[in-house]
Amino acid sequence: MMRRSFLLCLALAIACGNIRAQDPAKDSAKLTVIRAGSLIDGTSNTARANQLIFVRGKKIEKVTNAGETIPADAQVIDLSKATVMPGLIDSHTHIFLWGEDPDKGGYDANILRAGIALRAARATYACKRALEQGFTTIRDLETEGAGYGDVEIKEAIEEGTIPGPRIFASTRGISTTGGYNLEGYAPELVMPKGVQIVDGPVEARKAAREQLEHGADWIKVYMTHRSWVDKKGELVSQPTLTVEELKAIVDEAHGWGKKVACHAYSGIGLQRALDGGCDSLEHGLLLTDANIAQMLKQGTWYCPTIAPYYGDWAPENTPAGKRDRKRASEHEISVEKAAKAGVKTVFGTDIGGIPWTAPMAQEFECMTRHGFTPMGAIQSATSRAAEMLEMQGEIGVIAPGAYADVVAVSGDPMKDINELKKVKFVMHDGAVFKNEISVK
Ligand SMILES: [Zn+2]
Repeated sequence: MMRRSFLLCLALAIACGNIRAQDPAKDSAKLTVIRAGSLIDGTSNTARANQLIFVRGKKIEKVTNAGETIPADAQVIDLSKATVMPGLIDSHTHIFLWGEDPDKGGYDANILRAGIALRAARATYACKRALEQGFTTIRDLETEGAGYGDVEIKEAIEEGTIPGPRIFASTRGISTTGGYNLEGYAPELVMPKGVQIVDGPVEARKAAREQLEHGADWIKVYMTHRSWVDKKGELVSQPTLTVEELKAIVDEAHGWGKKVACHAYSGIGLQRALDGGCDSLEHGLLLTDANIAQMLKQGTWYCPTIAPYYGDWAPENTPAGKRDRKRASEHEISVEKAAKAGVKTVFGTDIGGIPWTAPMAQEFECMTRHGFTPMGAIQSATSRAAEMLEMQGEIGVIAPGAYADVVAVSGDPMKDINELKKVKFVMHDGAVFKNEISVK
């Protein structure tokens, strides 16, 4: 019932807007050749000058030096004065979140003041925003009370109804009683929650099964919830699921060939996330040396999200204000330690938690301030993320056989990482979505 009314609302939301659908690459035999002045291919550690990228249909056919003959009937896109890269991958987004600004009602307003049609319209906008900023793939880490909407937005993108990136959807998210918003209302009220609540391994496994049945590509689990600074001045976070509950989810997901992303800030809950076998650790604000050693041993992916912890700080010297500052400072240290230790790291913005109007690429600058080279940061948003998503060689790389997800900037991101905030050209699955550089 809910799914049907959601689809209807989505259709209405789209019919009323002036949204240009992506041109699917109609003729698979048609050849397009991109002249790249400088090519960062996603895996190599240095850029290559003057390359040609041959694109046929949705895929890259070959990559050559500029001397290669271009067939007369090929369409040429001239990016010879630009830096060309693979389409970017954001491994932590929320297309159904519209910011958490306290002045606008905070997180709760997302659920209490927006019906499903408005939320679908906002998610549609979010997908367009991601694509125009060069993010051709996103791992969307739960819908915050919008049910299975991410699976349906993904469907709308795949059928060409709305423009947007390739989506790895995680549907509803999972936490425990006392482990998620909405909260703080009169106890007599039954408030909606931003996740599916489970207690006990049986319910945990059942929730995973339901979500997988309805199209989840990943399962998102919250292993910590509230956080505060204790009397010793340490960051503490409240654990949620037990190891047994998480193990039931991980076991179920792995059986379906899917993976589990665990939100965890610090302490007991973060330890349980690792002991329970999570595939990717989200945020990981406070990583101890032992945590890092365990991540290296288990091959756990790390998805830090630095930028969002700099917004909406409560006033200094209040409990919330102290917590907000401590979260940011501990996170920086952990990212630096993880980078140094060589933990497998992917780029994530947590956009949606911060407004979709913010530049997603601001996270690159944060990463380069805390232990990453510009190329390391770019690879975390290209080939490394592709590896985590088990699409190595298919996305996050400019190479033969990969999907033709190609972006370009006018400057050199190795010299100024903030060039990535000004993506001027976007091709997704062989179709040009945006071109502010080439006139041909
Ligand atoms: Zn998030």
